[in-house]
Amino acid sequence: MFEFSSIEQFHAQLQEGKVTCLQAVQYYLQQIRSTRHLNAFIEIYADEALQRAKLLDERRQAGHAIGKLHGVVIGIKDVICYKDHKVSASSNILKDFTSIYSATAIERLLTEEAIIIGNLNCDEFAMGSTNENSSYGKVLNALDETRVPGGSSGGSAVAVQAGLCMLSLGSDTGGSVRQPADFCGIIGLKPTYGRISRYGLIAYASSFDQIGIFGTNVPDVAVLLEVMAGADEYDSTVSHQEVPAFSSLLSGNKKFRFAYFDEALNHPSLDIEIANSIKNKIEQLKEDGHEVAAIEFDLLDYIVPAYYVLTTAEASSNLSRYDGIKYGYRTAKKDIDLTEFYKLTRSEAFGKEVKRRIMLGTFVLSAGYFDAYFTRAQKVRQLLCDKTAAIFKSYDFIIMPTSPVTAFKAGEKMDDPIAMYLADIYTVMANLVGCPAISIPLFKHSNGMPFGLQVMANRFDEVSLLQISRLLKP
Ligand code: GLN
Repeated sequence: MFEFSSIEQFHAQLQEGKVTCLQAVQYYLQQIRSTRHLNAFIEIYADEALQRAKLLDERRQAGHAIGKLHGVVIGIKDVICYKDHKVSASSNILKDFTSIYSATAIERLLTEEAIIIGNLNCDEFAMGSTNENSSYGKVLNALDETRVPGGSSGGSAVAVQAGLCMLSLGSDTGGSVRQPADFCGIIGLKPTYGRISRYGLIAYASSFDQIGIFGTNVPDVAVLLEVMAGADEYDSTVSHQEVPAFSSLLSGNKKFRFAYFDEALNHPSLDIEIANSIKNKIEQLKEDGHEVAAIEFDLLDYIVPAYYVLTTAEASSNLSRYDGIKYGYRTAKKDIDLTEFYKLTRSEAFGKEVKRRIMLGTFVLSAGYFDAYFTRAQKVRQLLCDKTAAIFKSYDFIIMPTSPVTAFKAGEKMDDPIAMYLADIYTVMANLVGCPAISIPLFKHSNGMPFGLQVMANRFDEVSLLQISRLLKP
């Protein structure tokens, strides 16, 4: 039987002739079919994945050098465009829409010979923390099917958790890669804002959105990052900084400087077992010779409100393009004027949470309230950026929990959007300041569910972030 542990090992087995790309794809297709009830995949690209696997096998067997991602089987979140494949952001408004180009990230994966096996369920327009806001229905956490996988990239997390592909892509605007990784017991990396091109990533909140990576080990995540990262003429917000060869810079036994916030570890919303595990980890880091210090941080309770003001504002603007005129869903009602047409189209096709956010965003941008909400939230964002920049002058990392609790029970928070938003307390900071952050699966709760440690690093310091991740999870 095919078994995957890492890209490096997979490649060694391919070269030794012990396994083929075709066998790998066949194995994953079988796994996907036998776990359809998890609802992780929306569409499976079975035929083309098989064909591509055959082609890659032939090329390799003919002696061609192999790409960094040769035969690596990857699933992609349904917000990332892949030419001639459907993409809908799990929304009825984009039902049956087909991508007319591929995201830069996808192009780069393909150039390195990856195999895209299908697209993955998520919260509608990446808005949510449980994957319950999807037009395709909820996704089940494979470790406990009564629980949610987290969100918004729930399908991407479960696909890796349940062994339905080797790695997957998600998007992280406020934690949508790290939190489902935390809930599912795998690694989730959100790179620095501007590290990976957003060209071909359906926008939620453009100054926050970033493509992220799910995997089971640090070296694999590092390879994917190095392949996708770097300047792109189609996205002016991508950094032109040279991309380090992350995967070859992982080793070492450096002693690092960690900061943490007492306010975060003693927050009333934080599960006591999670708090204790992180506190123990802090002691262990000290014993291992790292410097760890508590930092005063009085902005914690402002970050979720700032995040929801700013992201809903951006979303209300970004989602105004879905008007039923040029593409996507349109109301069937005839003989109506244009305004009525827009209203019906959008009312019929957007889900409840998306509507809530469009309304909230439109409100905070409205003339009478702009200064009171939007401008203020921008100021909080600036304060946070200044504060974090100051911290990273003296420390390599900030450590925090990823989520205040382990995976919720399905339905548990659906009637209380505020409670749902507040659970984003630890993840949204990295998006507000644009720094990279990772959730590393290190712990298990007495309720049987896994949870992770979140580590944030300075902007564009993914090298250190991946090094410490490797140290913590060898
Ligand atoms: N839970 C966050 C939200 O609902 C995360 C979203 C995201 O990162 N896409 O906004």
